[in-house]
Amino acid sequence: MENPMTEFFPFGTQYHRAPTPLESEWATDMAEIAAKGYTHIQVRPQWRCHERIKGEYDFSELIRLLDEAQRNNLRVIVKPQLENAPDWVFTELGGTRIGFNGQPLPPIAHAAFYVGGWWPCFDNPAVAERASVFTENLARSVKDHPALWFFNAWNEPRSRPLGQCQCPHSRQSYRDYLKKRFGTIEALNSAYGKAWTSFETVFPPHSHSDYVEMFLWRQWAGEAVAQQVEISASAIRRGAPGKFVMCHVGQSSYNQDPACDTSNDLLNSAKVDWYGCSFPIEILPKNDIEYHQPLAQSAWLRRVDGNYWCQEFYTNYASYHREADPEYIEQAIWMALASGCRGLTFWQYRSERFGEESNGWGMRNMDGSPTPRSERCDRVAGELKKWGADFAKTNPVPRKIAVMFDIANDLLMRIQAMSGPLAGVAAIPENCNYSYKQSVRGAVFHLRKAGHSVDFVTPGQDLSGYDLVVAGTWEMVPENAVDSLKKYVADGGTLLIEYPFACRDEKTWCALKRPASQLDELTGCFEAHRISLPKTAGGLGSELPGNCVIPDNPGTRGELAGFSYDDGSVDLATYCKVELTPTTGSVLAHWKNGTGAVVRNSYGKGTVFTCGGNTAIATAEHGFFTGLPVLYKKALECAGLKVDTSDVWSVERASGEHLYRFLFQMGKEPFSMEVPAGFEVVYTSAGANSDGKNIQFAPHATVVLQRKN
Ligand SMILES: [Zn+2]
Repeated sequence: MENPMTEFFPFGTQYHRAPTPLESEWATDMAEIAAKGYTHIQVRPQWRCHERIKGEYDFSELIRLLDEAQRNNLRVIVKPQLENAPDWVFTELGGTRIGFNGQPLPPIAHAAFYVGGWWPCFDNPAVAERASVFTENLARSVKDHPALWFFNAWNEPRSRPLGQCQCPHSRQSYRDYLKKRFGTIEALNSAYGKAWTSFETVFPPHSHSDYVEMFLWRQWAGEAVAQQVEISASAIRRGAPGKFVMCHVGQSSYNQDPACDTSNDLLNSAKVDWYGCSFPIEILPKNDIEYHQPLAQSAWLRRVDGNYWCQEFYTNYASYHREADPEYIEQAIWMALASGCRGLTFWQYRSERFGEESNGWGMRNMDGSPTPRSERCDRVAGELKKWGADFAKTNPVPRKIAVMFDIANDLLMRIQAMSGPLAGVAAIPENCNYSYKQSVRGAVFHLRKAGHSVDFVTPGQDLSGYDLVVAGTWEMVPENAVDSLKKYVADGGTLLIEYPFACRDEKTWCALKRPASQLDELTGCFEAHRISLPKTAGGLGSELPGNCVIPDNPGTRGELAGFSYDDGSVDLATYCKVELTPTTGSVLAHWKNGTGAVVRNSYGKGTVFTCGGNTAIATAEHGFFTGLPVLYKKALECAGLKVDTSDVWSVERASGEHLYRFLFQMGKEPFSMEVPAGFEVVYTSAGANSDGKNIQFAPHATVVLQRKN
C-alpha cells in the first residue's frame, strides 16, 4: 500500500510489557522519550493480563498508558499479545499444544513472557474464537483514544518447536490444508508416490528422513502461522475499522530456521497493511559477514514489503552481557535506516529486571538512566527530527543486482541438513547455518564487498530491471521460475549460478538429468559427477590445486575444493564439487582433475556463468574473506558493473529533493577520503569528522552525505 507517513520519519521505542516498567515510572520516562525527539512508543497488552477471568475485560491499565503518552504528545502502537493466554484457555478450552509422540507442551513463563501462559494452540477453534473476541474488545476500547496511532497484530508469529502442533485440531488443520491443495487423496499420493488410505489417516511426520512429509507439514505450519495473524488482524479491523494494522516477525525467512521455527514472510505479510521484522543482528560481530547482517536482512524485508519497519532494534543482549561498542550500535542503526525501512522501533526503553533478561535488551539502564548506547540512539532521533518530511519521503535508490531467495527451496535444504536417530526428531535444534542460508548470505556479502547493494527476488518474479541475478544452492527450481530465468537472460541479463542448481524436481526427488527442466539450455552444460564436501570433514581434502592460499582460520572447517582459471588464479568452493560437462558453453575454470568447474554460456542476448562448486558457502561457512572470487568479478564485468572493494560501504536513499548517501567505514584502520563533488556532509558519528572537504573515519564510523537530487 501507499506510505501515508510522509510528514516525519517514525523513530520510537517499545515501552511497556506487563509488569514493567511500573506505573510510578511512566511519567518521567515518557517525558524523557518525547524530549529526546522520539516519535512514538509501543505497548504490548497481554491477553492473560486483561482477561484474567473469562469474559471480564479490564483495559484500565492500557488506557492509563495511552493517557500518559497523550500528555507527552507521543503516538502509541498497540500490539495485542495473544500468545500469553489466560489459564482458562488451557484448563477449560484444551489449549495446550502437543509435540512429537503425543507429548504435551504445557504453557510456560519465560523472561520475555514473564506473566506466563505461553503459548496455546490457535488451531483450536475455541482458542481462536476467544482470542478473536478479546482482540476485538481491546481494539474497540482504544480506537478513539487520541494517542492511539495504529495496531500491531502479532509479535513474532512463528511455529516452534519442530513438533508443534499435533493436537487433534492441528492434525485436522493439516489434513484440511492437504485436501485444499491436492483435492483428493489419490492426487496427493500420485504427486509424491505415497500410499495413504485417506486424508483422515495422514498424520504429522515423526521423521525428516523421507523429506516429503516434513516438507509438506512445515509448509502447513507456515499457513497456520499466517492464519494466527489473520485471527488478530481481522478482530482489530472489526473493533477499530479503518486503523492501520501491522505485524512483525522475529527473524524473517532470510535468517530463520524454516522447519524448527516456521514463519513465512510472504504469507504473513498478506494479512496486514504493513510488515516488519525484529532485528536479530550480532551486536558483538566477529567477522565482516556478521557486520553485514543489518544490510542483508533489510534487503530481504524490502522484498517482502516496500513499507516494512525495522522492529525491535536491540542495542544490547540479555542478562548483564558484555557491552557492545556504541560506535557499532550507531552504525547498525544507520544501516537499518539506510536500507529503506519506513520506521524503526527499539527494543526496549528500560533494561528488563527479571529472569534471563535481567539488565538486558534495553537502551537505558534498569532505572531509566542513560547509557552510552542510548545516547547514540538519542542523537540519531534528534537528527532524523531535523530531516523531517524529506527523509520520510525517501526510497532506496534502485539496485542493479538481485539475489534469488526461494522460501520452499530453503525449507527443503533445511530438512536435507537434518540428522539424528530416527526416534530423535524432537531433539533436532534450530539451525540457520546450512547450505542454502549460507549460500545466500555469502552471495549477498560478496556483492557488498564488490561495492553493491542488492535486491532480493523470488521465483517467477520479473527480473527485467536487473543487470545481474545471482542464484546459489537452488536445488529445486520450480516450474514457474524457469520461464522468467530464460526470458531474463535471453533479453540480455547476466545470470550467475553456484551449484547445486535444479537438481531436484517438484516432488523433491533427484532429477535424472541435472540441471532439470531443460535449464541446461541456459547453463550450456550438465552435471557429470557430484561429490560432497562435507562440513564435518574438518580437513582441506585432496581437491585443492597446489598454488592456492588457504587463510588461517582456527574455526571449524569443512572440506574445501579449488578450481583454477587459465591465468592461474584460483577460487575456493565448498559443499559440493560438481564436474560440469559443457554442451554449448565454454569452460572457464577447471577442477584439479581437469574437469569443468565454471562454464560460461551465451543464451539469447545474455550470459550465464555456472559454477559447479559454491564460493558463497565457502565464505559464509569459514568466516574469512580473502578477496572477491574471480567468479564474481567475471560476472560483474560481463554485466557492465564496476567492482569497488573499498572498506567504506555506501548505501543510498533518495527523495524528490535530496539524495542521502550513507557511508559506513568497515576497515580496521582509520581511513580518510575527500567529500565527493556535489555533496555536503550532514551527519558524522562520534568516530568521524569532516571539515567539509575531507572526511576522517575511525573503524565503524558513519557519515551521511546529502546532495540536491
Ligand atoms: Zn494444536
